Amino acid sequence: MKQQIPGLNRVLFFVAATAACPPVASAQNMPDHPKVNVQGQDWTPLSIVSGNMGTPAEQEAQFPPFKVIGNIYYVGTKTLSSFLVVTTAGNILIDTTYERNVRTIQKSVEQLGFKFTDTKIILGNHAHGDHMEGDGLAKELTGAKVMVMAEDEPALRAMKPGGKEHPVDQVVHDGEAVTLGNTTLVAHLTPGHTRGATAWTTTATEAGKTYNVVFFTSLRSPVKISPANELEFARAFKTARLLPCDVPLGDHGREFRMVEKYAKMKAGGPNPFIDPAGCTTELDIEEAMFDAVVEEQKAAAKP
Ligand SMILES: [Zn+2]
Repeated sequence: MKQQIPGLNRVLFFVAATAACPPVASAQNMPDHPKVNVQGQDWTPLSIVSGNMGTPAEQEAQFPPFKVIGNIYYVGTKTLSSFLVVTTAGNILIDTTYERNVRTIQKSVEQLGFKFTDTKIILGNHAHGDHMEGDGLAKELTGAKVMVMAEDEPALRAMKPGGKEHPVDQVVHDGEAVTLGNTTLVAHLTPGHTRGATAWTTTATEAGKTYNVVFFTSLRSPVKISPANELEFARAFKTARLLPCDVPLGDHGREFRMVEKYAKMKAGGPNPFIDPAGCTTELDIEEAMFDAVVEEQKAAAKP
C-alpha cells in the first residue's frame, strides 16, 4: 500500500500539470531528479518549476513595467510574463496570465503611458492557466480579439475561470502571420508542453538597428513523456533552434534572466536584452532535461 502512494501522487500531479503550469504547492511534488548540468548550473524538474513560478506572492506581484526594446514592453508580474507590443494601429498583448493578474497588467500598461483599451489583439504562448486564463477578462476590458493556436483551442475552451467561456475570435495556424498596424508577429508551433505551444517572432528597431525578437514558449517536459509527446518535443526543439534570434524572451522571467537583465538595464550601458548568445540557454536546459527524463523513463521500463 505504501508503495502505491508516491505513484498515485505522481499520477494526480500529472493530471494537474496538464491543466496548468503547476502552482507552487504542486511544485513540491515535482521530482528532484534527474539532474542536468548546463553551463555550470545544476537543474532538476523541481528547481525549474520553482524558478518559473516563484512564490504565490511573486506570481501576483507587479514587476516594474519597462521597455524591453523598440515597441516591446514588459507588463507582467515578478514571475509570469506579459508583453505589450505597441503598433501604429493599437496594441497586441501577449499572455494575460491568471485572471486575477489582469488588473495588474492593466495598471502596468497605463503606467507606461498606454491605454489598456487600445489593446486590439490578445495572443498567448500556451494553453495553461498561468499564461492564458485572463483572456476573457482582458477581452471584456479592452474589446480585443483573442487569437489562439488551433492545436491549443480545445484546452483553451476547457479553461473557464469562474465558469466563463474562453473567448476564441480567431484560430491561428503554424507559420501564420498576425499583423496590426506596422507590426507583424509570426506563429511557430513548438509543441510538447501543450499541443499548441507557440513561439511568436517579430522584429524590433532600436538606435537604427533591427533585431529579431523571439517570445519563446515553455519547453519544459512533463514528468512522464508519451511516445507522441516525445515526437512533439523533438519537433519543438528543432524549430526553436532555427528561429533567427537576437532578443530571447519567455513566458517566465527565469527563462530569459529577466531580473538580472533588468538590473543591468537600470545600471545603464547597452541593452542587455539584446543577447544572441542567450537565445539557446533555456533551450539547452530544457532539451538536456527532456533527454534525461526520457533516459530515466526508459531505464525504469527495463525489466
Ligand atoms: Zn505551462
